[in-house]
Amino acid sequence: MKVDRRSFLGLGLGAVAGFSVSPVLLKLTDDSSIWTQNWPWTPVPVDGEVMYENSVCSLCPGSCGISVRKIDNRPVKIEGLDEYPINDGGACLHGISGLQYLYDPARVKTPLKKNGDKFEEISWEDAVSMVSGKLTEIRASGSPEKLACIADKDQGSVSGLFKRLLKTFGSPNFYSMPSLESYLELTASSLHGQGTTIGFDLDNSDFILSFGAGVIEGWGSPVACFKANASRKERGAKLYQIEPRLSNTAANADKWIPIKPGTEGDLALGMCSVILKNNLFNASAVAGFKGGFNKIAAMLQSDYPLSKTSEITGIKESDIEETASLFAKAKMPLAVFGKGRGDGSQSLKELIAVHTLNCLVGNINKKGGAFVQPVKDYLEFPEEIMDDIADKDLQNHG
Ligand code: SF4
Repeated sequence: MKVDRRSFLGLGLGAVAGFSVSPVLLKLTDDSSIWTQNWPWTPVPVDGEVMYENSVCSLCPGSCGISVRKIDNRPVKIEGLDEYPINDGGACLHGISGLQYLYDPARVKTPLKKNGDKFEEISWEDAVSMVSGKLTEIRASGSPEKLACIADKDQGSVSGLFKRLLKTFGSPNFYSMPSLESYLELTASSLHGQGTTIGFDLDNSDFILSFGAGVIEGWGSPVACFKANASRKERGAKLYQIEPRLSNTAANADKWIPIKPGTEGDLALGMCSVILKNNLFNASAVAGFKGGFNKIAAMLQSDYPLSKTSEITGIKESDIEETASLFAKAKMPLAVFGKGRGDGSQSLKELIAVHTLNCLVGNINKKGGAFVQPVKDYLEFPEEIMDDIADKDLQNHG
């Protein structure tokens, strides 16, 4: 039979049409997907008992409540915990991807020992024997304070265990990286007494005066911030952002007040002075001021007149006066500190100055205000057993 061009094309098209409507293609796809599932490197979820465990996410200072789904005791999914006061079922992308840290094939799986410029993998037995050898050497030298520990944060069970180790070893040298929590505790203990911390009710405030806090980008608890910001317009709440740069929060705030970097504490004190001068403070709230209210008020007004505050901060006098008055006259004003995510460096003067604004307007422990609470010590370890060396050294250096 002669196959000309026309019949060749007809034959080809017919074959393609026939192949695509036949079940062969579907069958091949199905077979190949079954076959690839049996490759030894393809993860296959195990079958087993399904359980949920509630916990707190520690991937950022937000401390959202989470629910971890486990199959056969193996965590397989993280979700936000419903009705948890901070996030009420919400969780950010970072939080719900938390299991990647547990199962990522590229994670560090063994201790690493530095050798010159390189890190070498060593076994856990070798690592434990090296560290315990060093610790024995330090203890035998009679100077246990030579041991120091730097932890990434102050809270959490790992830091708690390190603190215990150092205490029983006899060293007071436990350090942690600064965090918003440590600033909150420092501010609260300076103004409200030891062992306290501060929480901010952004959801119910109608005027948030933020001294550089990234309340839209994510500060403190990002999920709580996102929720408060989402309902801000609906609630008719205002956000004023005091910050040297036009951050996302500044760009989306009701007003951005650019300020000379590092002068936020002076501005807060200047605003306190305006509130005092114009009698806009809450008289019953200031009655219990540490150090005597009249003395503090006189000092603020003489040290921070409007002209001087304006010169220090680079903000017009009229803007300072107007913002301070709007803040003090709002139904439930709230001043927040902690630049950016809240864990950058800032002076105690700035923290105390900003929180003094809250104290002056009387929003402490009120809906929409700043809540002063005892620091929760939720970790319960058995009491430490101290030997003579630890006792003696902690008395000398603790
Ligand atoms: S905001 Fe995200 S990362 Fe931070 S605690 Fe909540 S879920 Fe975890």
